[in-house]
Amino acid sequence: MNRVELRVDLARVTSNVEAVLARMAPADVLVVIKDDAYAQGVEPVVDAALRAGARWFGGIDLPSAVRAKRRAGERARVLCWMTVGGDEAEAGLREGLELGVGDADYLERVAEAAARVGAPARIHLKPDTGLHRNGVRPEQWPDFCARAAALERQGAVEVVGLWSHIAEASDEDDDAARAAFDRAERIAREHGLDPRVRHLAASAAAWHRPEFRYDMVRIGAFCYGIRSAEGPGIPGIAPSATLAARVVRVDGSGVLIGVGSLDGLPSAAGGRIRVATPAGPRLLERVDPFDSVVAAWPGAAIGDEVIVFGPGDRGEPTPTDVGEAIGTVGEEPLLRLTPLVPRVHSS
Ligand SMILES: *Cc1c(COP(=O)(O)O)cnc(C)c1O
Repeated sequence: MNRVELRVDLARVTSNVEAVLARMAPADVLVVIKDDAYAQGVEPVVDAALRAGARWFGGIDLPSAVRAKRRAGERARVLCWMTVGGDEAEAGLREGLELGVGDADYLERVAEAAARVGAPARIHLKPDTGLHRNGVRPEQWPDFCARAAALERQGAVEVVGLWSHIAEASDEDDDAARAAFDRAERIAREHGLDPRVRHLAASAAAWHRPEFRYDMVRIGAFCYGIRSAEGPGIPGIAPSATLAARVVRVDGSGVLIGVGSLDGLPSAAGGRIRVATPAGPRLLERVDPFDSVVAAWPGAAIGDEVIVFGPGDRGEPTPTDVGEAIGTVGEEPLLRLTPLVPRVHSS
């Protein structure tokens, strides 16, 4: 085994996605594969999600979305919600991606790109519903819809979706966002648009609040078994990724394991989490650049395996436990890992 590796249990990804699909039905589920599928590898994750029955993938960045589309081919629709500029839009369209559009100027760039490609761009329009991050403001929304409808009549675009994003910080804010979303839909329809795929919610709101599901939900965290920070466990879902490190030195002061802050293990985790050793959970005392110190146990030997985080089967913390220990979310311990940490997939 490597000094350190991130093991990805693809059967777990499949069962997580199955649990998500069952919970969200009849709404469709878009499996979010941004950030190299939450650091777990776009291609194997797409395969695992397809086995569960996923039919939609999506992400922020063009490269992850292109990789997902190439892997899934005609088996899935893929949405990229944050391409930048006409060139990226054109590249995405040539790959068969659907594009998020939350800006009037960008709508024109996408229509021009579609003309160069020679086929209508399938787009998902985004009204701003309160987050003030990339979305058309309410006062501009009617004109934006009128322009999209005109471009649709010309055959430049096909408005297939309507979407926005919510903060999931408070139910009140989310409810206000939902009301804004419904208003935006009414206005879009008044302008002759017929967005078939309406999607607003991510993992937490979609799981707990059915009224947020509309036609589709965009689920990242829960597909990888990452529960919300300070949130409850989710039945049927467990972390798919395990960070395992080998003991590289044993001396009087402690046991050194082969993962450090330069691999992306947050140094703030030192003194705050208990990792799983062959003798049971032990304090992770300190994170250094190249290695980390774990409280000694009797009989510790070079080559022993220590689980830093994982599903919890051996008493290790989950990614969200680690996130909570250092005051952040469960995605963070995964997304910080550098590409130099080998990913090892099993099914
Ligand atoms: C990341 C992301 C999601 C997925 O969020 P999770 O909480 O991980 O499920 C959904 N929608 C958008 C726009 C995102 O950027």
